[in-house]
Amino acid sequence: MKRCLVCVLFLLVLSGCTRQPPVITEQYIAGTVVTQTIPQGNNSQAEIKDAARQVTERLRELESYFSVTISASDISRLNQSHRTTLQPDTKLLLEKALSLADTSDGAFNPCLLPLIHTWNISSALTEDAVFAVPSPSQIEQAKQHCGYHSLQVNGSEAFLSDAQGGVDLGGIAKGYMADEAVSLYRQLGIENACISLGGNIYAIGHNQYGHPWNIAIQDPRAPHGASIGTISLTDKSVVTSGDYERYVEQDGIRYHHIIDPSTGSPARSGIMSVSVISEDSAKADALSTAAFVLGLKGGRALLEKEHCDFIIVTEDKKIHLSKGIQDTFQFTGKENGYDVVS
Ligand code: AMP
Ligand code: MG
Repeated sequence: MKRCLVCVLFLLVLSGCTRQPPVITEQYIAGTVVTQTIPQGNNSQAEIKDAARQVTERLRELESYFSVTISASDISRLNQSHRTTLQPDTKLLLEKALSLADTSDGAFNPCLLPLIHTWNISSALTEDAVFAVPSPSQIEQAKQHCGYHSLQVNGSEAFLSDAQGGVDLGGIAKGYMADEAVSLYRQLGIENACISLGGNIYAIGHNQYGHPWNIAIQDPRAPHGASIGTISLTDKSVVTSGDYERYVEQDGIRYHHIIDPSTGSPARSGIMSVSVISEDSAKADALSTAAFVLGLKGGRALLEKEHCDFIIVTEDKKIHLSKGIQDTFQFTGKENGYDVVS
């Protein structure tokens, strides 16, 4: 059995010296490593450190609203009592999640908590608990309580009409947090920064060399840090969903953390990873999860309809690029057997 928890994307660390290295901070928030990289340009080091501290505080605040493990969070209260008042951030995020569920015809579904519990995704895939594939009847039973129409947001309240239903925002919350971090940087006068929340990256302005940020796309079958290529990014987010982030392998089958709501099991769509590029990180987050579920054809159609650039890596090691990314994608995956096909 092989277990793995790795970050999806990583910043390329450029070698060489610079007189003013960026300020880099690292914290563990919302179950993931959050890295802020802020070059010293127009801002003093004190301003940059203060901005990084404020962003960290804001992200911890958002975690305290959205978490399914913090018992006093809005989402935990909703899951326990099926009716609760919401913080304005939670209301916005739930409304966005419902709208993206509609956009993706339910491939992104914020109400999968019963299936997530059935598959024990939050702990069994990452810790030393014994992983057991649920029986078909357990899956079917949980699936019946995963309809997202049971979730309604009305004014500042949310309701769950299915008594056995439950909300899990793991497929979108980090995107929302990245968007909020960027809006705070801008309010604080920070024009250049790159924030990474596990697989969610948002890069604004330029790096310390005055160039667009270089972001490496993880090779889904190589150790963390090996890439299949890089993209350059300014004022945009790139979010990746991959079957290598959290998984267990048993009897040759990879059980990972992205559930196909139509089968109730980890999606087997022929995709290894999907990276979505957008100015709206919450949207990119939800749509990368949805596109992974839908597979190459359906995922590509969804992302084109939503005007998002993408990098889809299929199990046959083909890399499918949207038109808008073809000129900036620097392919480095040849040695590892990858091919760019679009
Ligand atoms: P991501 O890594 O953004 O693709 O999100 C995966 C996480 O979102 C999982 O760990 C679950 O918490 C949750 N999730 C799994 N499958 C789905 C899905 N089809 N729609 C929405 N959330 C999902
Ligand atoms: Mg996602």
